[in-house]
Amino acid sequence: MIPSHSTRPAAEPDDEDGPLMDCACTALHHLDDAEAREYATEHLQRLSADYETWAVTYACPTTGRRWLLDYPQSEFHGGGPPRLRQLDSEGVPREDSGTDS
Ligand SMILES: [Zn+2]
Repeated sequence: MIPSHSTRPAAEPDDEDGPLMDCACTALHHLDDAEAREYATEHLQRLSADYETWAVTYACPTTGRRWLLDYPQSEFHGGGPPRLRQLDSEGVPREDSGTDS
């Protein structure tokens, strides 16, 4: 038998009031440069900013996880590339590598 019509999966509906980007906060802990800026801008909600260090604290609207955007190479002209790190429950940036306890 030949099916009269194929059932193609419908396109995923856009979130009506959700974040613009898919939440990757459970998989990602660290982003750099353009990815950091894009993720913070598109997905996260800005909480507060430190105008001395240019560090900005963000929160995920989906999971409530907090993130810190800062500029580790602040001696660079213009501040260098941004770095986005997820904060743990104590507000300490999580590091994926170099965990020497
Ligand atoms: Zn998220």
